[in-house]
Amino acid sequence: MSTTAHPRQPHRRPLAQDPGLTCTEPATTIQRLQLWAELAKQRAMLLTDVHLSLLTDEEPEMHPDPVDQASTEFGQDLAIQVKVRTFDKLRHIEQALRLMQTNNYGRCRRCHKEIPFERLTVKPDALFCVPCLTLIEHGAARN
Ligand SMILES: [Zn+2]
Repeated sequence: MSTTAHPRQPHRRPLAQDPGLTCTEPATTIQRLQLWAELAKQRAMLLTDVHLSLLTDEEPEMHPDPVDQASTEFGQDLAIQVKVRTFDKLRHIEQALRLMQTNNYGRCRRCHKEIPFERLTVKPDALFCVPCLTLIEHGAARN
């Protein structure tokens, strides 16, 4: 194969182009504000969820038949799991909002490097960078 490539450097994308896609830099102040707005929005939505789930809470039913009783308990377990997840998410978001008031937001808890903005856009309450999270998840899977 003959290389007909021109002697110039392999063409580089101008930096100004699509900063959102190529950005692996720490988040700027404006980007942080965007993340803050996103977190606040998610928090408001979760609070609404929590509020609604409290409103629709039913008294636990008691069945004389143990099979019926078991299925009721199973349904309640599922409802509790959903609530636990909602509260967990809410807790993470509250934590991220608190971190934003300090300078620790967007910094990986494990390696203390800045988490790339593109990851924070996907998961504004991320506490770890992707490499660290992968390590942690692998470690957890082994246990
Ligand atoms: Zn890390």
